[in-house]
Amino acid sequence: MTTLLLKNGVVLLHDSSDHIVPTLADILVKDNLIAGIEREIDAPTGTEVIDCTNKVISPGFIDCHQHVWQTFNKGRHGDETLMEYMPTGNLTSSQYSREDIFWGQLGGCLTLLNAGTTTVVDHAHIHYFPEASQTAVSSTVSSGIRSVFCFTPTARVASLSPLVLEPNLIEPWVISSFSSLTDKAPFGPNGRVQLGLAFDGWFVPQEIATPLFDLALKAGIKVLTSHTVGSISTLGSAVPRTLQKWGLIDKFHILFSHATELSPEDLDTILKHGGRVVSTPSTELQMAHGRPICFDDRVRGNACLGGDCQSNGGISIPGEMKLGLQAERGLRNQKIIDKGLMVKTVHRTVEQAFNLGTVQGARAIGMGDKIGSIEVGKLADLVVFDADSPSMVCAAQNNPVDAVVLFSTPADVSAVVIDGQVRKLDGKLKNVKVTHDMRELSRRDVLEWKEIAKHLLKRREIYREKIDKVDFEEVKRVLLKAWYIDESKMTDEA
Ligand SMILES: [Zn+2]
Repeated sequence: MTTLLLKNGVVLLHDSSDHIVPTLADILVKDNLIAGIEREIDAPTGTEVIDCTNKVISPGFIDCHQHVWQTFNKGRHGDETLMEYMPTGNLTSSQYSREDIFWGQLGGCLTLLNAGTTTVVDHAHIHYFPEASQTAVSSTVSSGIRSVFCFTPTARVASLSPLVLEPNLIEPWVISSFSSLTDKAPFGPNGRVQLGLAFDGWFVPQEIATPLFDLALKAGIKVLTSHTVGSISTLGSAVPRTLQKWGLIDKFHILFSHATELSPEDLDTILKHGGRVVSTPSTELQMAHGRPICFDDRVRGNACLGGDCQSNGGISIPGEMKLGLQAERGLRNQKIIDKGLMVKTVHRTVEQAFNLGTVQGARAIGMGDKIGSIEVGKLADLVVFDADSPSMVCAAQNNPVDAVVLFSTPADVSAVVIDGQVRKLDGKLKNVKVTHDMRELSRRDVLEWKEIAKHLLKRREIYREKIDKVDFEEVKRVLLKAWYIDESKMTDEA
């Protein structure tokens, strides 16, 4: 048995009403579980001790909607709407080789882990060839992050320039790939990476999609996720209605990513059946999905957070908490100001924002009894923040929850523990042990971050050479047509 002791930190404990009670304590971890939380715990012989004096210990963050593979696209979408990003970002997974998937996925997992995300729901629209998802899974296992890897029948591009889409979303080889993954899941030590299903193909006939869902149910898959954006018809009402029509809505923990601009009836359908909505403020605000819904009274308790496109900067859950909270406050304040009145009290709380990325994320994926808060018997997924860094000093002592949500950056994350394993220490990522099946690609058993960064830069160049030749304006025109989008309804007149 391995033991780990986090000594003398301010621990963010949740009480039975989800209020956070900062408590000075030691945390004892035995193997992958939290074994004790007390003011003073004596370290058994052989224990690894992390001194957490002047540190805040938070539950690990849970990112319920992310496209992890997108590392090479980071920094390319800052001025794009959703319909501009679709060709330049989403569809470019078509250009990824197996090697690109390995490095891109590893870079993506470590980007999130470095910022304190300990669990990610990965909507992995990367399945272009039979080995694609297995490669991404093995890369995820290597990184050390906890993941619900959602296998995604991917809308595949036969050619980007000119844009030609493959006619069939669910070919027999796609089902075979999924079947082979269900045979092997869960993956990694303690089954840290489990299999989920992501699906956006609600336009295909039911009989074509049924084998996929039957396989998922037979394999005991719990998490099903889908993009659900009311402002785009094929991604809006169609999702809850089709799930209901196909008899699937009560059979999974369903994550409706975005759930923006839905009719009251569609939102009711989701909530009546215990569905969860995932807000991703970074992309929703920029890319015009509509107002992030996570602080709406109607979805209280059923909402959680995601970073969505890490290529667009959604890499930190505290960052999404802050952005979502302040956007919601700003929108509500403006309504009062527009009436010529003054705002009396602040809208929503920092604690609510914190809970969206911790306890509520855990419950959304059916793991509320295992992760999301720091309790004896739960899995040891912990994030340690420096409380005396330039950003955090005084904020962390006055109000550690405010400090995490409003003041922290990934640079203030001093240590990350996932499943009892230390993955970041003293502000630096620990070395990554590569799974056996990926060593022909990594060419090393153990990788340090600097080497990984070198490989990412090399792969990015090869990838850029391919996509720099693409006329993305032309791709966009074809895509708008394929999605039946009426361009006369697109405007910049506010
Ligand atoms: Zn997404």
